[in-house]
Amino acid sequence: MKRLLLLVTVALSVIMSFAAKNKKKAQQPLKPMNEFVTELMGKMTVQEKIGQLNLLPSGDIQTGVSENSSVSEAIRNGGLGAILNLKGVENIQKVQQMAVEESRLGIPLIFGMDVIHGYETIFPIPLALACSWDIPAIEQSARIAAKEATADGLFWTYSPMVDISIDPRWGRVAEGAGEDPFLGSRIAEAMVRGYQGKLSTINSQLSTDNMMACLKHYALYGGSEAGRDYNTVDMSRIRMYNQYFPPYKAAVEAGVGSVMSSFNTVDYVPATGNRWLLTDVLRQQWKFDGFVVTDYGAINEMMNHGMGNQQQVAALALKAGTDMDMCSEAFTVTLEKSLQEGKITMEEIDQACRRVLEAKYKLGLFHDPYRYCDKKRRASDIYTAEHREAARNLAAETFVLLKNNHVLPLKKQGTIALIGPLADTKNNIPGSWAPTATYQYPTLREGMQKALEGKATLLYAQGSNICRDSVLQADGSFYRSIPRGDDAMMKQDALAIARKADVIVCAMGELQEMSGECASRSDLELFDVQRELLEELLKLNKPLVLLNFAGRPTVLTWEQQHVPAILNVWFAGSETGDAICDVLFGDKSPSGKLTMSMPQNMGQIPVYYNHLNTGRPVEEGTQKFVKFQSNYLDVRNEPLYPFGYGLSYTTFEYSDITLSSEQMPANGSITASVTIKNTGNYDADEVVQLYIRDVVGSISRPVKELKGFQRIHLKAGESHVVTFTITPDLLKFYDYNLNYVLEPGEFEVMIGPNCRDVKKTEFISPSYHMTKMN
Ligand code: BGC
Repeated sequence: MKRLLLLVTVALSVIMSFAAKNKKKAQQPLKPMNEFVTELMGKMTVQEKIGQLNLLPSGDIQTGVSENSSVSEAIRNGGLGAILNLKGVENIQKVQQMAVEESRLGIPLIFGMDVIHGYETIFPIPLALACSWDIPAIEQSARIAAKEATADGLFWTYSPMVDISIDPRWGRVAEGAGEDPFLGSRIAEAMVRGYQGKLSTINSQLSTDNMMACLKHYALYGGSEAGRDYNTVDMSRIRMYNQYFPPYKAAVEAGVGSVMSSFNTVDYVPATGNRWLLTDVLRQQWKFDGFVVTDYGAINEMMNHGMGNQQQVAALALKAGTDMDMCSEAFTVTLEKSLQEGKITMEEIDQACRRVLEAKYKLGLFHDPYRYCDKKRRASDIYTAEHREAARNLAAETFVLLKNNHVLPLKKQGTIALIGPLADTKNNIPGSWAPTATYQYPTLREGMQKALEGKATLLYAQGSNICRDSVLQADGSFYRSIPRGDDAMMKQDALAIARKADVIVCAMGELQEMSGECASRSDLELFDVQRELLEELLKLNKPLVLLNFAGRPTVLTWEQQHVPAILNVWFAGSETGDAICDVLFGDKSPSGKLTMSMPQNMGQIPVYYNHLNTGRPVEEGTQKFVKFQSNYLDVRNEPLYPFGYGLSYTTFEYSDITLSSEQMPANGSITASVTIKNTGNYDADEVVQLYIRDVVGSISRPVKELKGFQRIHLKAGESHVVTFTITPDLLKFYDYNLNYVLEPGEFEVMIGPNCRDVKKTEFISPSYHMTKMN
């Protein structure tokens, strides 16, 4: 007993002296940032400065073994600026202590991780989030993610990913907002605000509920050829500026604290070594003042790109404007030598070091290195009922109703057969890129059991494997495998329960890891084994709904023809089970709208709505082949489901557009209004979309571009006037010389429930504006 008391007393006094020390540190007034950083750098050796540019994964640096790992050696020697993937506030505090108390200058580390769509409360994958078009809710999802992550000690996230992509073969479309630069920009800004807080720039007042965001992957990563990950990107600068750059720029303007360079080449030079991209555009044109980190190992990858040996590529990266090396250790190994040989300058090292130290200053780490280490918060701030409620509500808004032949919503009665390989696999609930998620989230089956308890009978059968090819299934479930069974037997079980049921719910699609990083696919139809099961089930002639689980647009042409109802549910995160039930059983009407076109077949890819016209266009909606016009012999030009598309349980009627004027006054604006009426029987949300076409330009302009949207709620029978203000800024674009201009002339205005089914009118803009970019 005495010994125990003694131990407790010793432990208490250690904790108290530690706390007092921290407090003392926290109270010390700091000099202004510039002065502080200059003074600190004055004390640093060249190695210590290069050390700040080094970001390594935590590796074996866990409590207990941390003492002897190579990472801890680097920390003690001042050879590390930041750590990646260390989870848990105790671990983080311990490692921070090592940096602060055991390294010569005690410079704190930055702790970062991929907090992409939630921390422990998991929101739908980003592509799904975008389909909600609900900017405040998306912002809130980032805020909740930041609150949970910081409650566990992390304060740097590698998000938002804002890469535009028009190629669903690329698995990483799951991580972005889709194909549109306008919507992508609004989401990028919202995510930055959500993570970093109301302040548009981070500073030492940053609340400890907020974290530094990292815009990625700069730039053009979504343009990889043939949708194959890490592949070459090659596009005109006009296309970069008008179509691919806007979301990056928007995030920079929202004050993002860091930027991650991408793996791909831009103009034949890897982004990580591309000075035009990292310095001319990012810093000089867009005025970015945070630091640039590479993607994982990207400096070393430049050797494979044929840019030289490690010393050469590291120097190239630094000179281009890279500040922090993620996991290549190329800076630590080579920069000093390059300095001695005159291949880089001290100013270049200083500049990068200063940017990293400034970020630390802005994060408040020099005030108090342990400010994100409040261990009490973990119990109260993570996976809370309130956060889960927000995730459930937002998830329900992301589902896109693709077809509904009077099947949905289902009634909670009779016997329901739930069938399919995605119905009950816990390993597929969070969706790709949720490395922080540790809970066992309820499956759809569990959600349905709860929703139907005492009201209806739920029968369940897996029905099939994901695909016949066991190697493909294994490759597509690298981190979280799912067991395989005998397809023939599973089909028999499924048919047996389906025969007993009044209605069949099929949970089919791809595994969560079949999208995301290094998960490109060349065939996006439903896997044969699932399609065959679906065919058999349809032969029973019962009401049937297909829930399509997917991290990308899939090809559902056969399903559109044969299946009575299709709800695209993506990967909806921790609240999947409840959120799907909310929509399936009609407590909420679906309101998600696609943010990537869904193709009719693979050969159409890339198919996207904001394309240019050709000299031989085929009129939209043409149903047959037209010789010597721009079309295919074997498929029409339109996608199966267009951008912005998504049905509801109710119906909406759009009036014609009323313009406040047919001429936009010089330096003025006009408004475009429509009345929308809920003509069906359900209260529901609708996303009203504004598109504009610049009819004549000095360069060819897209056939339409999204320029506004509003999410409204209408009770059954209710009408509402939606008004969009069209400002000169909305009409601007980058011209041949990359000047940002508004050219006078005729503009078409289109408003509708998607990019295809729009009302149209025109106006004239008489004024010419130009902002020089270069
Ligand atoms: C990915 C990034 C990610 C990084 C760190 C890379 O492989 O491309 O998106 O942030 O790893 O985990």
